[in-house]
Amino acid sequence: MRGLVLLATLVAAAAGAETFVGHQVLRVLPGSAAELQSLRELQELEHLQLDFWLAPRGPGAPVDVRVPFASLQPVKAHLEARGVPYSVMIEDVQALVDQERTQTGRRRLLPASTDAFNYAAYHNLDEIYAFMDLLVAENPDLVSKVEIGRTTEGRPIYVLKFSKGGTKRPAVWIDTGIHSREWVTQASGVWFAKAIASDHEKDEGLASILAEMDIFLEIVTNPDGFVFTHTKNRLWRKTRSTHSGSLCVGVDANRNWDAGFGGSGSSGNPCSDTYRGPYANSEPEVKAIVDFVKNHGNIKAFISIHSYSQLLLYPYGYTTTPAADQKELHQVAQKAVAALASAYGTAYEYGSIITTIYEASGGTIDWTYNQGIKYSFTFELRDTGRYGFLLPASQIIPTAQETWLALRVIMLHALEHPY
Ligand SMILES: [Zn+2]
Repeated sequence: MRGLVLLATLVAAAAGAETFVGHQVLRVLPGSAAELQSLRELQELEHLQLDFWLAPRGPGAPVDVRVPFASLQPVKAHLEARGVPYSVMIEDVQALVDQERTQTGRRRLLPASTDAFNYAAYHNLDEIYAFMDLLVAENPDLVSKVEIGRTTEGRPIYVLKFSKGGTKRPAVWIDTGIHSREWVTQASGVWFAKAIASDHEKDEGLASILAEMDIFLEIVTNPDGFVFTHTKNRLWRKTRSTHSGSLCVGVDANRNWDAGFGGSGSSGNPCSDTYRGPYANSEPEVKAIVDFVKNHGNIKAFISIHSYSQLLLYPYGYTTTPAADQKELHQVAQKAVAALASAYGTAYEYGSIITTIYEASGGTIDWTYNQGIKYSFTFELRDTGRYGFLLPASQIIPTAQETWLALRVIMLHALEHPY
């Protein structure tokens, strides 16, 4: 095994991409505060290079952690010595990455129309940007493309605008992919765009939404990170900026917003996957949305989409003080989750960020909520950990379909409850 692992690692390294040969994803089930503490100890050991897919939440809640081959023995020994139960969720991370790559390799040719686009495959940035141009060209009276900024590496940041006309109408915002490795989210964003363009007349609910409101959809919210997941490291989460002379790259764009910025549930260490950045809005990808939201001034619902865990969350993440609209948000979430489950029976949990997962500061929807956008929600899409970020492409369309039902509920609620 070791020789094989080494060989495979060398081959992949020569190709310039990070490999995950022999890496496992462990599902750990800390049952007590002490067991949770022993996991936190592991989190502190930087040399183990652990990648927490699901960070510790509390006793009884699963923790998923990707463990590099070289760290497997010490990590397992650490858990076993303390009696912390765990199981192997993914035997070999690289095997899943390879499987995904053979599928993505099969789709290349740019289709002539969005009807011919393969929605059941993962696509790279060029392909998604080409899809957006096709959709705009096919639906000039409904869809337009707005550049809201440039990334650290100079890429344009695009938002699709779906509008039946009029100026400064109230609007709904949806973004996918702020964490670049959460590929099912960008793929779902592509599917939503096509669904809006295809159904805006025959779906009565959608027609009524678009009769009053615009929809803004940012499919690739972290373009630099997304390109990096396709070329160098499939499991890259952050942006691609550097700060404070650190050798470590990237900021967690979901800890970089000006809402409880710098509080617990984010890291000041540039090498951490939850590094908040040197100051709020330091990331051009975040600043672009902040400027857009402020300039627009009439956004009524803001939905930021992540994966994975199957959760629908509302503010707050940085404080235990309940949101002023907690009761209504909870009811909307309940309706949305019921609609979602009606498609394939997919079960979601819902609640505020801090009560449902953990304390997280500087998050997107805490900021939008504090800006007065009452209907601020975050989704964590499929699955609950079997594949995690490496969700098979065969699940893209069902995931997008069920999520769309929940989005419709939130948009309709916003339409029917003007404020
Ligand atoms: Zn995320």
